[in-house]
Amino acid sequence: MLLDEDEALPIARSKVDQACLAAGLPLPAVVIVEKLRGRKGSDFTAQFHARQGVPTIEVPLRVVREYPDDALTWLLAHEVGHYKEHAGRRVKDRLFKTGMVVFGTVLAAWTLWVVVGAVMSPVSSFGGIFVWLGFFAYTTYLALVLADSRAEERAADRFAVRYQGSMAGALQWASLPHRSSSIAVQRRGLRRWGRALFEPFNQWLGLIFSTHPYVPMRIDAMRAELEHPVERG
Ligand SMILES: [Zn+2]
Repeated sequence: MLLDEDEALPIARSKVDQACLAAGLPLPAVVIVEKLRGRKGSDFTAQFHARQGVPTIEVPLRVVREYPDDALTWLLAHEVGHYKEHAGRRVKDRLFKTGMVVFGTVLAAWTLWVVVGAVMSPVSSFGGIFVWLGFFAYTTYLALVLADSRAEERAADRFAVRYQGSMAGALQWASLPHRSSSIAVQRRGLRRWGRALFEPFNQWLGLIFSTHPYVPMRIDAMRAELEHPVERG
């Protein structure tokens, strides 16, 4: 018998509440959704966001239905870890993040403008330099933003595993069917020649241009955290 939304909510709610109480955090909103908003319709992980200033943990119904209990506890504690990071961030840091987003948007627009300009009038020898400059600047920017995202993931992982006090939930979670761990493999539409071209760089691309660290790396880091806790702030 499958749980419905009304039955799933109290389960998710109580797991989030317990992790928040343990961390001394005010309780956030918890909502059961069909699919996560703004994440390509993902329905097999959860997410924290604070749109309109309301800290919210979104949990797809499928997650509550299909995750084993310890994995669900771990995942929701991981999201509470994101909430804790968010709550601990000072206004200055938030402004900095917003500034980075604005900067990235301007950089992307500028790069696009230069590229379009170079295509429209290839005579300009200046164009070439600016195209590469723009491309380089934007790629660097993206790599930095993604590295920051991975650092936040690691912090959320550390919080979750400390809260749970064992690897049980993390290991259950890691054994669930996940999205693939690297970019080229993820692109199912990629043809064989594309894969052959990308394969040597696959690990690399995945490492540098990914919002999340690889699952085996996360598991290792959590094991290390349990053995030697890194208490930061
Ligand atoms: Zn996360």
